[in-house]
Amino acid sequence: LPRRILRAEHPVSRSMISSGTLKTLYTLKDAGYEAYMVGGGVRDLLAGIEPKDFDVATNAHPEQVKPLFRSCRLVGRRFVICHVRFGDEIVETTTFRGPITDLHKRDETGRILSDNEYGTLEQDALRRDFTINALYYDIRDFSIVDFTSGIEDMKQGVIRLIGDPELRYREDPVRMLRAIRIANKLRFRIDEATAAPIARLAPLLKEIPAARLFDEVLKLLLSREAEDNLYGLRVYGLFRQLFPALDRLLKQPDKLKFVNAALRNTADRIDKDLPVSPAFLYASLLWPAVEARAKEIRIEQACESVPAMQQAGDEIITRTIACVAIPKRFSLPMRDIWDLQPRFEQTTSNRARRLMTHPKFRAAYDFLLVRAESSGDAALKELAHWWTEAQKGGDLPPVPTEEAIE
Ligand code: ATP
Ligand code: MG
Repeated sequence: LPRRILRAEHPVSRSMISSGTLKTLYTLKDAGYEAYMVGGGVRDLLAGIEPKDFDVATNAHPEQVKPLFRSCRLVGRRFVICHVRFGDEIVETTTFRGPITDLHKRDETGRILSDNEYGTLEQDALRRDFTINALYYDIRDFSIVDFTSGIEDMKQGVIRLIGDPELRYREDPVRMLRAIRIANKLRFRIDEATAAPIARLAPLLKEIPAARLFDEVLKLLLSREAEDNLYGLRVYGLFRQLFPALDRLLKQPDKLKFVNAALRNTADRIDKDLPVSPAFLYASLLWPAVEARAKEIRIEQACESVPAMQQAGDEIITRTIACVAIPKRFSLPMRDIWDLQPRFEQTTSNRARRLMTHPKFRAAYDFLLVRAESSGDAALKELAHWWTEAQKGGDLPPVPTEEAIE
């Protein structure tokens, strides 16, 4: 039997829940169905963090949910999820899912390929990933239903997989990434049995579609906890699977320093509610590899720094997208950011003025600043300063010293 935590015994109040989520829950309840808020929403509210989104779980089937709402879209081909919309807010509403059994189709590594049966509340709880993600806030009496001792783990600050860890990672290796991310987000520790198999099973990430890994990497690194997440990924041997070309380079302190400075820059922008861009993030992450490769190409092929940078960018992107996808709308501006770096060394007035009108000048200049700040290279700092002054209008500042131009 599940444990029920009564309203008086937990801090989750309706005032903390989005209006769309409440409307969805009440509408389902009034139509005679069970309706719960579940997952990250309950978890984050219990931890005193503002949730990113709220999810609803119900025993109503999608075709029963749809007619209850003015705007409800069914998405997904195999397992259908309802997107209930109120203005800008979309509430993901999912019918209880059934258990994964030996009958499910798996690939040779144990990964589940298809599962689309409905189930009971308890079955829905047991197929979620971590105990703290399987708490259900019941709209009937505002109690929380707990099948997996998630409340206890919440109190202890523990990330624990439900069931046998190895089996659960094999079903879906992305859970390894989620363990790191959620642990850092909540400042929780990963339970020993949940942590132990990760390093050994990390190669299973190879089976995950590149597009899904792109999304997960963004959640990890376009985040306030980006630096901790990068560290966690590297410690557990996950980063190597995602970015094979990069892991080795980050053992060099100056390269790691640059990437961390870029991640901190992103985190600061999130703190200030400024927009953050996946292109800038990926440009920063891959920069150590691109820069190193460009240097090799300049030597091997005795070519100029601008074409060398272009070729290096090409090569590194091609290598990366074999594991982690990068949509064109991001890889194109990334290429611009990189290609502009050697062009910053051209400080003759005509070229400098032309460069300032480039549509990606601003992003590339911000990138140059992160490079300069995180570097011990005085000439690079001087070059960045020159460009800061150059943008102030009027006459261009005197050309920086010879070393800066190299
Ligand atoms: P956040 O929204 O902060 O990224 P979250 O835990 O809410 O974290 P979602 O991707 O929104 O993450 O998923 C919502 C819920 O769905 C989770 O809390 C968990 O219960 C379940 N879930 C998500 N991904 C998985 C998975 N790979 N395996 C099992 N259950 C999952
Ligand atoms: Mg969520």
